[in-house]
Amino acid sequence: MAANISFDFSGKRVLVTGSNSGIGLEAARAFARAGANVALNSLSNTEADHQLAHDLAEETGQVCIYLPADLSQRDQANDLVARCRRDLGGVDILVNNAGIQHVSPVEEFSDDAWDRVTEINLSSQFATIRAALPAMRKQNWGRIINVASAHGLHASANKSAYIAAKHGVVGLSKTTALEVAETGITCNAVCPGYVFTPIIEGQIPDQMAQTGLSRDAVIRDVLLTKQPTKRFIEMEEIASAILYISSDMARSITGHAFAVDGGWGAI
Ligand code: NAD
Repeated sequence: MAANISFDFSGKRVLVTGSNSGIGLEAARAFARAGANVALNSLSNTEADHQLAHDLAEETGQVCIYLPADLSQRDQANDLVARCRRDLGGVDILVNNAGIQHVSPVEEFSDDAWDRVTEINLSSQFATIRAALPAMRKQNWGRIINVASAHGLHASANKSAYIAAKHGVVGLSKTTALEVAETGITCNAVCPGYVFTPIIEGQIPDQMAQTGLSRDAVIRDVLLTKQPTKRFIEMEEIASAILYISSDMARSITGHAFAVDGGWGAI
């Protein structure tokens, strides 16, 4: 399904964390196609990552750059915003998207896994928001979109760190929104249900091992059991929501947990 997005983000500078694949890459592409200059980010720093930015610049005629950073390290998250300001000229729209999952019962959850999941999914968002806000305040305009999850609003077993982090993202988004409510800055969380991306692909073998179910049964009865539409959400649907919340038409939407969840929240 091709995204049919007609927003105009000309002149805006967008930093999307965790954007060499999945939802982040889709959002970065949608912003560049809508006229924004875009910074991609991931940890990996491969030739393919730089090529993604190069190809997007060629396709759209926008400035598109790639900035590696390991968002499990607070100082690198902080520094990423400064590097984006230096190399792209600023950060008008910050999309905090980087995320990882770890599936394990709480009694078996290691400290390392807990720290890594909470640092990448939650604390890096705190660090980039803190770094980006002063310049947004100065220009009295900014958009902060924190990618949370349906798991930012609802729980599932065996995902304690992810669910704690994503609930934290919703709380961080609400608090930030209140602190900037009288400015031209908004801050929202986006809460996707199950979108078919590498993060989901990676969960299937774990779930098969834990449940003893086949791949098809895991998809239907475990992953999509909570999603009444019984279909994976397309990445373009999440990108469209992110662009809408970033638009001027959404300037009164702030502090909101914007669910794109196939009806999950209705249960
Ligand atoms: P993905 O694996 O394609 O994307 C994750 C991104 O995070 C990648 O670009 C990866 O390089 C980056 N990343 C991971 N560790 C990093 C690190 N240490 N430093 C910098 N970048 C790092 O998966 P996705 O599904 O596109 O996930 C994107 C976001 O959407 C995540 O926050 C995820 O929790 C959230 N989400 C996904 C779904 C889904 O069903 N796919 C549902 C709800 C929420």
